[in-house]
Amino acid sequence: MKWFEQMEHYDVEQVVACRDEASGLKAFIVIHDTTLGPALGGARMWPYATEEEALEDALRLSRGMTYKNAAAGLNLGGGKAVIIGDPKSDKSEALFRAFGRYVESLGGRYITAEDVGTKEEDMDYIKLETNFVTGTSSVNGSGDPSPVTAFGVYRGMKAAAEEAFGTPSLKGKTIAVQGVGQVAFRLCEHLHEEGAKLIVTDIDEQAVQRACDTFGAESVDPDAIYDVEADIFAPCALGAVLNDETIPRLKVRAVAGSANNQLKESRHGFALKERGIVYAPDYVINSGGVINVADDMIGYNKERALRRVSKIYDVLGDIFEIARSRHIPSHLAADQLAEERIQQVGASRTQFLRRSKSVLDLIDR
Ligand code: NAD
Repeated sequence: MKWFEQMEHYDVEQVVACRDEASGLKAFIVIHDTTLGPALGGARMWPYATEEEALEDALRLSRGMTYKNAAAGLNLGGGKAVIIGDPKSDKSEALFRAFGRYVESLGGRYITAEDVGTKEEDMDYIKLETNFVTGTSSVNGSGDPSPVTAFGVYRGMKAAAEEAFGTPSLKGKTIAVQGVGQVAFRLCEHLHEEGAKLIVTDIDEQAVQRACDTFGAESVDPDAIYDVEADIFAPCALGAVLNDETIPRLKVRAVAGSANNQLKESRHGFALKERGIVYAPDYVINSGGVINVADDMIGYNKERALRRVSKIYDVLGDIFEIARSRHIPSHLAADQLAEERIQQVGASRTQFLRRSKSVLDLIDR
């Protein structure tokens, strides 16, 4: 495996391979970029078929965290860890404590959190070895991020409505919600309270029934959600749902939901723009969870966290403005907003060096 080539491809700062024979730990920690601050990103546990696959996933996801944290206005860089193993059978206190010691060894350059395959109790074991972990079960902790993520999606949907309809009000609007799990159920609460009409779908019939009973929602079969007459489509279940097959079927004016990686490929962002559909970039509209976890690091205060999450509305407003003025799709506008923030902060950090007459001035002779 050509590590440096791969690091160059994803433009990452540091890759740490972690091995602990006694506990069976095999993990990679990838620090993508620390320009804005310590690299925050979850630790994923997954039975990767190969080490290459595990590293590739960590490299790709760490880059995503840099963009997400930057666009969310957090003073944090991006990173990610992957632990190779089956979360159902390979977990142990020793394994997470060994991982925690590796996190500690980075001296705060990387801060870990829950992710796919890891839970609050795993973070508690990590906490025994390092303070550079969030999302533990501490009584004053931030707890389940889903309600906060949902609030952020609600605020982001209002920004998308403003862009599409000229008003952020969702009263009387029809919203098609794909998946009514942890985040979307809470999202539906906000939408219902504002007077929106809901059309929901889920592969879990109980989840659908609950949404119908609680919000008077209409329901459709999972595949029919792309065809419904609605104002806004809210993908809150799976990735890659905006693709060649689904985009031509959409009858909505905006897409705003919590799911990660909604665009199958970047070109599908262009396809939405061509169809005149406003798209709220996923990693921005669903950043409530990471904003919540970041608040945890400074002594959790729910009011402050919600205030910050509420700003997703303003960030999306800025993104739509960039997209309009530069004639680019909104997903690229989000990337540019994040990149520009990192560049500006990075440039001010090197100001001292650039101002000095010569590098030689800095050498103690
Ligand atoms: P969840 O598992 O509670 O909910 C997902 C729901 O989607 C489930 O009810 C599931 O049955 C349903 N579903 C699965 N396949 C489906 C299909 N083909 N059609 C319709 N419904 C289907 O998960 P969640 O925590 O609510 O997260 C939802 C999405 O938001 C995920 O993509 C997640 O990565 C993303 N997200 C969540 C958070 C958070 O704080 N929980 C933060 C950021 C992003």
